[in-house]
Amino acid sequence: MLPPKVPDQLRQIVGLDGVITHDSELRVYDCDGYTLEKSTPQVVVLPRTTGEVAAVLRLLHREQVAFVPRGAGTGLSGGCLPLAAPVMVCTSRMTRILAVDFANRRATVEAGVVNLAVTNAAKGGRLYYAPDPSSQTACTIGGNVAENSGGPHTLKYGVTTNHVLGVELVLPNGEVVQLGGPMEDVPGYDLVGLTVGSEGTFGVVTQATLRLIRRPQAWKTLLAIFESVDDATQTVSGIVAAGIVPAALEMMDQLIVAAVEAAYHFGFPTDAGAVLIIELDGLAAGLEPQAQRVIEICRVNRAREVSVAKDEAERAALWKSRKRAFGAVGRLAPSYCTQDGVVPRTKLPDILRVISKIGRRYRLRIANVFHAGDGNIHPIILYDERDADQVERVLNAGREILEACVALGGSITGEHGIGVEKIQQMPLLFSPTDLLVMQQLRRVFDPKQRCNPGKIFPTPGVCVETTRPKRRAAV
Ligand SMILES: Cc1cc2nc3c(=O)[nH]c(=O)nc-3n(C[C@H](O)[C@H](O)[C@H](O)COP(=O)(O)OP(=O)(O)OC[C@H]3O[C@@H](n4cnc5c(N)ncnc54)[C@H](O)[C@@H]3O)c2cc1C
Repeated sequence: MLPPKVPDQLRQIVGLDGVITHDSELRVYDCDGYTLEKSTPQVVVLPRTTGEVAAVLRLLHREQVAFVPRGAGTGLSGGCLPLAAPVMVCTSRMTRILAVDFANRRATVEAGVVNLAVTNAAKGGRLYYAPDPSSQTACTIGGNVAENSGGPHTLKYGVTTNHVLGVELVLPNGEVVQLGGPMEDVPGYDLVGLTVGSEGTFGVVTQATLRLIRRPQAWKTLLAIFESVDDATQTVSGIVAAGIVPAALEMMDQLIVAAVEAAYHFGFPTDAGAVLIIELDGLAAGLEPQAQRVIEICRVNRAREVSVAKDEAERAALWKSRKRAFGAVGRLAPSYCTQDGVVPRTKLPDILRVISKIGRRYRLRIANVFHAGDGNIHPIILYDERDADQVERVLNAGREILEACVALGGSITGEHGIGVEKIQQMPLLFSPTDLLVMQQLRRVFDPKQRCNPGKIFPTPGVCVETTRPKRRAAV
């Protein structure tokens, strides 16, 4: 319950224009990129500084009001869906890059800074911020920290946790804590590592100190075209088995290639079964022999054609097409749900066959575009959210895909998190004791569990979460 005086008290902290209470404006915040479930907050508050976040959380603590942190709302597991949380604390006005330290290769930024803005700020020193989610032109560093986000280039460079040195976190009682810092290897427990990936359940991250890395001297970006998904996935295993670690190794299947080509006109062959984008980087002198070896492996696996981007413009166009692939999906169906599972790389052919079978059984089209080098699949299930029967089939198909990932020795998420979407699947990976211990850990930060309630953990002994929003997209 939200005490009626709270919106005005919030206005006193952040100003009149920092609080949204009008129904039509609130609807903007009723879901993230996972649109199968929706729930509208009662109030959205938009602080500009750590001090304002702390004052907001102190007020909510005093009034015992639950809240949910939100960045840009590009999450794909319903992480910022307000469940039993009347207030949403949104960091979209906290966009200052506070320091870029070229000599020590660090940047300190506010939580609402967009991922790509960090790399843009570091360009002058030939540095960049490595984690590059495909949503990097929109998603925020706070959201990346909460989800431990990855991206195409995390195959070689690691995910967010490998690039965060410190965070400033406002605890749910309003206390501001500094975890880690600008130096490497802080002694004691790795509280930064614990916070990265905590999906907004520990408090609101207000600042992060990020590691910057040197831009590679050169790149070689290859496009390999295959008749079948099987041949493409065997190539992925072949490249890694040969001891080559590409910077990125991405796959798109025929359905997504056709949509991407229609949208961006890169020149992809729309009759191909699958394409791989393989990027090698490092010292210019070493790249040519590696590229030749990769081309050989593609040919052994029956590639129809392999080409190398001839200049930076062609490389950029290729990446633009890949990173905007989700945007092209609107050409295929009115709605889509992006799944996120992981399998051992060698099991990619098996999981893609399973996905295709599940699609046929549920009469759903499923497109695939994913970080193949990591074994991180993203089946995109196409549907129409106005049709309740289709929605039900999408939910069942998604569940079966995740079960198949686990059965093949993988996991239920590679980078999008559990959010609300995958709560029911947590027991596939964790025992009741594991889940209990994780929740005890959460209570250290948030004893009353008022920060992002209803996320990550299933309620013990309950088969279907009753805290989930009643208004499904199709109903
Ligand atoms: C087209 C598209 C492509 C994508 N590609 C990728 C990809 O390649 N790799 C990848 O990993 N993800 C990808 N994503 C998913 C998404 O962009 C990431 O999860 C991203 O990190 C979310 O950032 P956000 O700012 O939008 O966070 P939101 O969606 O607003 O929130 C996500 C979670 O973080 C929490 N949170 C947000 N800000 C804070 C904060 N300041 N403090 C504490 N908790 C906070 C929220 O409570 C929520 O649980 C993609 C999404 C889209 C739509």
